[in-house]
Amino acid sequence: GMTTPTDGSRVATHCPYCALQCGMTLSHETDGGVSVAPRGGGLCHKGWTAPELLDHPDRLTAPLLGGRPADWPRALDRVAEAIRETQERYGPDAVAVFGGGGLTNEKAYLLGKFARVALGTSNIDYNGRFCMSSAAAAGNRAFGVDRGLPFPLEDLAQADTVLLVGANPAETMPPMMRHLARPDLVVIDPRLTETAARARLHLRPLPGTDLALANGLLHIAIERGYVDDDFVASRTTGFAAVGRAVAGYWPAFVERITSVSVADQYRAAELLATGNRAILTARGAEQHSKGVDTVSAWINLALALGLPGKPSNGYGCITGQGNGQGGREHGQKADQLPGYRRIDDPVAREHVAKVWGVPPQSLPGPGRPAIELLGSLGRDVKTLLVFGSNPAVSAPNSAVVTERLKGLDHLVVADCVPSETVALAEVVLPVTQWAEEDGTLTDLTGRVIRRRALREPPSGVHSDLWVLRELAKRLDAPSRFPDTPSEVFDELAAASAGGVADYSGIDYARLDAGERLHWPCPAPSRPGSADDARPVPGQRGPAGAAETAGDARPASGQRGPARGHSGTPRMFAGGRFATPDGRARFTAVEHRPAAETADTGYPLLLTTGRVLTQYQSGAQTRRTSLPGRQEIELHPDTARRFGIGPADSVTVTSRRGSFTARAKLTESIRTDTVFASFHWPDRENVNRAVNDVVDPVSGMPEFKVCAVRIASTTSE
Ligand code: SF4
Repeated sequence: GMTTPTDGSRVATHCPYCALQCGMTLSHETDGGVSVAPRGGGLCHKGWTAPELLDHPDRLTAPLLGGRPADWPRALDRVAEAIRETQERYGPDAVAVFGGGGLTNEKAYLLGKFARVALGTSNIDYNGRFCMSSAAAAGNRAFGVDRGLPFPLEDLAQADTVLLVGANPAETMPPMMRHLARPDLVVIDPRLTETAARARLHLRPLPGTDLALANGLLHIAIERGYVDDDFVASRTTGFAAVGRAVAGYWPAFVERITSVSVADQYRAAELLATGNRAILTARGAEQHSKGVDTVSAWINLALALGLPGKPSNGYGCITGQGNGQGGREHGQKADQLPGYRRIDDPVAREHVAKVWGVPPQSLPGPGRPAIELLGSLGRDVKTLLVFGSNPAVSAPNSAVVTERLKGLDHLVVADCVPSETVALAEVVLPVTQWAEEDGTLTDLTGRVIRRRALREPPSGVHSDLWVLRELAKRLDAPSRFPDTPSEVFDELAAASAGGVADYSGIDYARLDAGERLHWPCPAPSRPGSADDARPVPGQRGPAGAAETAGDARPASGQRGPARGHSGTPRMFAGGRFATPDGRARFTAVEHRPAAETADTGYPLLLTTGRVLTQYQSGAQTRRTSLPGRQEIELHPDTARRFGIGPADSVTVTSRRGSFTARAKLTESIRTDTVFASFHWPDRENVNRAVNDVVDPVSGMPEFKVCAVRIASTTSE
């Protein structure tokens, strides 16, 4: 293994894709290419093939103006001019920014600052709305803080039972499964996924009914005496109302809503009754018009069982995007300032404005969440800047979104590959890839990790940080825009000080010395943040396998106070949650149907998800050598019912639109449901059919259920 994070020919970094952020060593190959090796854990197919994009023939290496190559000064001047023109005519909010959950912490932070300070617009939001926003809202509601997993992944190996709700890590992040090898798994998913196939018990509810199932399991837990009364009495509030709410969720009633048998409900409750237990939710629980309440229902169950904050037990949410966690902490959300603080909080405004050197009253107020923002394109939003996102494919009701993108006065997109959104842009700005840049990301456990450059970007390619600095200059922004990643990080850390996600005790030197630092990690002079999560003295990250082969580790485990706060790998262990009274909050929630249920015109349900070889909108992974194509999964009985032969071309139609792909007949899916993955553009794009109705609290769209009809299109 490497003894330093970088030795010239090799560099210790992490995978560019999902939130597991697997450790990687990058090295130069003799033919000029880049090779990867796992560092500590494993890598999935996506990680192994990531370098294929670095010198890919599709790689964007020059700015484009109206589809033609242009030099950087001209392209940047054009963007600044477009912004000025729009704002003079329509006001500051007519220019909007759309960011991404894959951007580094530094980019997410600088993008938020750019929107508020250089553009003065309230309209900035990002694709994390599609990914994690429901669990974030439910976590804040219950614990006063939202950190995906409030404990290290290694803790899961100590659990006896892990309940996975709408999570399929065996396919989406395979290396995670080594942490789930020991516990018994209870998997809740309408499909028999790879993960469900490894489960001791697999429950297959009708899509859109998980909330009723969670209430039903809590009903049984109360009836059977599985509730941890001491924990509920001493560390929570609101249980009585939840008890009343779930009293009506009798197993037979829950079976009628969810189709999960009474016997299976009792089996699941029994597996969760004793031992070390963790409950983990993911997109399957979240991507609903009642996503926040659904996650709250699972958190209620975890709280009633006394799991959060107990060693080797807990509740967590498995984040999806590479920087899904950090992406929602530094201010690229419509309602947020850095440090995971609310933009309408006067104290936060004062603090951040001071770091930025601007008057607090100059900062705009909250803007519109993603779906609302995309809905205003071409109406009162005339110019859009997109960084690290491909909404033409990834947004629900995507054909309409594509039309709206076309209806803008100006669309500016920064990306490394010609995505479907890039194809619509007036100005395209080619930016660096992961192996060409330094920065940090925050993984699904709240650990801040270092991305490190192995090589220079191709000539003609610049970092997003440089782009923002150059634009800020042209717009005469009243604040400095540094573009050195460590300098941006230091500013981000200062801006986060005192917030929930406090990074102020972290810097590149500590990370490069191999320290494993999870937020909150306040600077020594500062008291801890709102959280309990004051470090247990001497507590360190687990000396786990994840990094042993890779990151340079500190010379010894000892750290005096001079080295600073040691971070917070395990939250809530000290007896307090991050709520004002230190108690976790139950929230009484009721089942309600999805916005669309099956009817005679649209007799089936469509649900969406990921496949092993692809990531997000597929703009990157579709360009690698990984196999994969769109397939519409349906049960053989369903195929017979609708006259569809194996491998027929099938068109799926909802009230919004249609998509077409090859049928894959499989008994792994319910007979009333069809599945397609969301990585494919144009006529294969499932999001043409997906419902853009959103959760009223989180703004998350209902990706996981809408009503459809299907027909064979093979003969056409
Ligand atoms: Fe990369 Fe995620 Fe695969 Fe790990 S699991 S190699 S982070 S895509």
